Amino acid sequence: MRTHGRPSDKRVVMTSPNSGARLPATSLLRLLSVLLLAGMAARCASHSAPPHPFPRPSSPDQTLTLRVEVGTGHNPRVRSIPLEEYVRGSVPAEMPLGPDDAVAGRLARLQAILARTYALASRGRHQHEGFDLCSSTHCQVYVPAANQTTAVARLVAAAVADTRGIIISSGNGPIEALFHADCGGHTSSATAVWGGPAPEYLSGGPDSFCLTEKRDDWRLDLTRDHLRRILNSATDTTVGRRLDSVVVAHRDAAGRATHVELRGTERRRVRAVRFRAVLAQQLGARAFRSTLFRVAATPAGFEFTGQGFGHGVGLCQTGAIVQARTGSTVEQILAHYYPGAWLETYPPSLTND
Ligand SMILES: [Zn+2]
Ligand SMILES: [Zn+2]
Repeated sequence: MRTHGRPSDKRVVMTSPNSGARLPATSLLRLLSVLLLAGMAARCASHSAPPHPFPRPSSPDQTLTLRVEVGTGHNPRVRSIPLEEYVRGSVPAEMPLGPDDAVAGRLARLQAILARTYALASRGRHQHEGFDLCSSTHCQVYVPAANQTTAVARLVAAAVADTRGIIISSGNGPIEALFHADCGGHTSSATAVWGGPAPEYLSGGPDSFCLTEKRDDWRLDLTRDHLRRILNSATDTTVGRRLDSVVVAHRDAAGRATHVELRGTERRRVRAVRFRAVLAQQLGARAFRSTLFRVAATPAGFEFTGQGFGHGVGLCQTGAIVQARTGSTVEQILAHYYPGAWLETYPPSLTND
């Protein structure tokens, strides 16, 4: 699995460079402190051994830079930004940190690891356009740290320094650390959502944590003609002059729609993520928030009701916030959403190219 077409709603919504073999002694020591997250959780549960320490942040001479497209609208420009500076700008733009400093600090460290892992794994995503990452929800939102309030900037800078160079790995460099706002109770496998092979850490599973939050289920009513016109705006969802029905043709183990059948003058079967993307393009990402939905016919057209927000693969930020608030560590939260992956400091070889 490489470049899943992630929807552009990652509010609070990811290719793997190979590790180098040359490591100085200090890095060797760091690698010895690698955490096997799942293993650690199991050890903690059995009390059979003390947990491994959190990996030590890497030394401050590592200066990998990313080419990031900044600016919006008709005035985009590309800036070379040191990785850790990039992480500082992305953390508060992608994770609501809340008023409790202890919880906010934990969430900032979690998001710093996610942002760094995502950025390293996604370098070159916009290579054909001459840069690595855009600064919108397509990649990760990036807002320069200079635009943050003093309190946020201080908290985030500390979290980024505490986790400097630490990434989530599954043995072949940074993982594809997909995350989304709210899974609605069960994350999905990347294969079910986008097709193609997916690594074990993106296989999906139940998430009771986000369900303890006040739910913000969504609903969207569309007239038959409005939906027909939206569908006709894209060639692969075109139904023609008449739209008769919209049917969820298949759901995955999480209950998410994976395929939708559109019956009209023409009949189409499309991936649910594609159906959602076409609607989101016309109506905005908040209007059609997830593929965890049901559809019913109404006298005027169609009623869509759903749970969650985002594609539902990888880490659920609402669930992570609940866990951080109830005392779970960053390692425990990551182990829950990326089973079988672990934390390590990225190899110096990644900084030398
Ligand atoms: Zn992008
Ligand atoms: Zn969740």
